[in-house]
Amino acid sequence: MNCRGVIREISDYLDGELDAAAQSELERHLEHCEDCRLVVDTTKKTIQVFCDSKPLPLPEDVHQRLHAALARRLQQRPS
Ligand SMILES: [Zn+2]
Repeated sequence: MNCRGVIREISDYLDGELDAAAQSELERHLEHCEDCRLVVDTTKKTIQVFCDSKPLPLPEDVHQRLHAALARRLQQRPS
């Protein structure tokens, strides 16, 4: 599975609706892809905030980590 696949399956994954094969493929990808781990983590937190049904902004640590990941991205040269 590639990054695109992870993004496509992320809501099913977080809902626990992915079949076992797809789930283990996705988790294998997460093991070596920090970007996707961050996306999954952030999405999970956003869902939790949403489920609390309080109109809160993103938690500060999520904000900072997203920012740091983006900054790293921008510094990277294409390989
Ligand atoms: Zn990825």
